[in-house]
Amino acid sequence: MLYVDGKWVEEGQAAVNPEDRGYNFGDGIYEVVRIYKGKMYQWDAHLTRLYRSAREIKLELPWSMEELNEIASQLLQKNNISEEDDATLYLQISRGAAPRVHDIPSGIQPVIMAFVRHKARPVADMKKGWTAQLVDDIRWLRCDIKTLNLLGAVLVKQYAKDAGAQESILHRNGTITECSSSNLFAVKNEALYTHPADHLILHGITRQSVIDLAKENGIPVHEKPFDIPFLMQADELFLTSTTAEIMPLISVDGQPIGDGQVGTVVQKLQALFEQHINTNVLV
Ligand code: PMP
Repeated sequence: MLYVDGKWVEEGQAAVNPEDRGYNFGDGIYEVVRIYKGKMYQWDAHLTRLYRSAREIKLELPWSMEELNEIASQLLQKNNISEEDDATLYLQISRGAAPRVHDIPSGIQPVIMAFVRHKARPVADMKKGWTAQLVDDIRWLRCDIKTLNLLGAVLVKQYAKDAGAQESILHRNGTITECSSSNLFAVKNEALYTHPADHLILHGITRQSVIDLAKENGIPVHEKPFDIPFLMQADELFLTSTTAEIMPLISVDGQPIGDGQVGTVVQKLQALFEQHINTNVLV
C-alpha cells in the first residue's frame, strides 16, 4: 500500500497529475528513512530536516509532525513491516499541481506521497568497502536542501558507475564536498575530517550520528574543507548515508587509499554504530 495525496492506494494504482510540479520541475522535497527491525531510525531528525527543506523552498507544509507520524506508522502497519524487517520509508512532498509557470502559483496544495520498501543492510559491502571516482561537483549551490531535483546527483553517480566505481567523490575546484548520495569522511592520524554542514552538502543524518559517536568516543572530528591531495593521502576514507550506513572507500580513481584495505578507524566506527542502532534510538 502507498499513501498518495491523502489516500491509501494499492501498488500499481497510483497516478501522477501531469501538471504536478514535482513531476515537471522537481519542485518538492523528500526524505528516506531507515527502518531497522521494523522500527524507524532517527525519524525526528528526518522530520526536522523535511520541515527545514520545506521552509527553504517556500513551501508551507499543511501537515503537523503528529500527522506525518501517523501516516508513517500506518504505512508500516499496512505493509506488515514487522520486527524481522529491515526496510526504507520514502516520503516526498511536491509543491502540487497547477498550470505550468515557473513562479510559485498562489493557493497551490502540496501533494504528499509515501511508500515503504524492504531493504537489507549492506553488510557484505561494509566489510570489503567500495571504490570511488573523483567527479566535478556539477550540482547547484543549495545542496543542503533535500530537493526532488536530483539530475546533478544522477549524472555524477552515473559518471562513477561508467568508470567502474560504486560512488563518486565530488569536488568544487579541487575542494572535496561530499558524494552523489552520501557524505564523505577522511581519516588522518586517527582524526576525522569532513566538509562543514553549509550550503554545499546535504546535512546527513548518518553524518551527524557518526560525528556524535566519534566525539563521544574520543575520536577528534574536524568539520572543515579539504582538497584532492589531502583526500588521496588520507589514511582511510568512508562515506555515510541512511542506506549505505558507514561504507569504507578503499580506492579513488583506481589508486589505493592507505594500504588499500578497510581501515581500523572505520571498523571502530562501524562497531559503535552497530551498538548505537541496537540500543534505544529507534521509535
Ligand atoms: N549527501 C547526499 C547528496 C545525499 O543524497 C544523502 C542521502 N542519500 C546524504 C548525503 C546522506 O544523508 P543521510 O545520512 O541523511 O541519508
